[in-house]
Amino acid sequence: MSSEPLIFDTKGNSLEDGPGIRSVIFFKGCPLNCLWCQNPEGKKATAELWWESDRCVKDGGCMEVCPRGAISPDHAFFIDRNRCDGCMLCVEACASTALQISGQSMSVEEVVQQVIRYRAYFEATGGGVTLSGGEPMSAPEFVADLLKRLKEEGIHTLLQTSGLFPLARFDSEVLPWLDAIYFDLKFMDPALHRRYCGTGNETIQKNFVTLLRWSRSMGFELLPRTPLIPGITDTDANLHSIADFLSGHGVERAALLPNNPLWLEKGPRLGEALVGTLEKRLRSFYETKRLEEIEELFSSYGIAASVA
Ligand code: SF4
Ligand code: SF4
Repeated sequence: MSSEPLIFDTKGNSLEDGPGIRSVIFFKGCPLNCLWCQNPEGKKATAELWWESDRCVKDGGCMEVCPRGAISPDHAFFIDRNRCDGCMLCVEACASTALQISGQSMSVEEVVQQVIRYRAYFEATGGGVTLSGGEPMSAPEFVADLLKRLKEEGIHTLLQTSGLFPLARFDSEVLPWLDAIYFDLKFMDPALHRRYCGTGNETIQKNFVTLLRWSRSMGFELLPRTPLIPGITDTDANLHSIADFLSGHGVERAALLPNNPLWLEKGPRLGEALVGTLEKRLRSFYETKRLEEIEELFSSYGIAASVA
């Protein structure tokens, strides 16, 4: 039996994570460290303290129980994470639930029972279950067991991935239970990928090409997706290089994921500072005109790209 990874969220009814109405399971742990990560609580594989400042009534209950003296209104984000040892006594003491634990262990069967309640919605809309994160493939055995159980229940399955994971045994142990893979391509230039995502992209590109070949022979859907981050991934040079790479491999469809600045509120809840001088740019929403320009750019390579 596979060991249990930590899950930081489950969404019941999503319309944004694949076809139809879907339940989404968010895994903790990711090999990348993207500057704009919409789910920063998915980066670390370990449980983390999550502090909701607007729920905090500053009654000091957590400060009284903290054995490390790590909590004080004088700290920038209330908790000194360097002192904190993760005992979570403060979470139990916080009656207003301002302090929570991000990351819960769940068994395969617990996840299945949680999502199966939405089966009627899946069946009515062509939906199913999406594995997201973080990087679900950080827990390959658990993912294989979970997907197998979901297929036994006749549920459509989709994996959202950063693309950075070992492909060994993926075709024999994971693919038989998968209907679709949404695969992120952020940069073609390895130096830019390293700068903004913390790793090179050679394995990601190789994995994409291998999965594309398998998708054609095995019949599952492989959809490349590019997050549009103002001034970072959405430069004409980067978008041309991605479109050129995809058209060179005969890809005809791609998804665009426009920046959603709401993620910027999550950093302080995890005790992380905002992203300095880039913050103003990252707070912006896309205008329709720019999105149409980007769709036209992909179209000039024979690729139908649309906002997911
Ligand atoms: S989890 Fe950290 S902040 Fe909370 S009581 Fe334990 S040491 Fe203190
Ligand atoms: S790959 Fe996704 S989950 Fe991982 S750090 Fe980047 S944006 Fe976040």
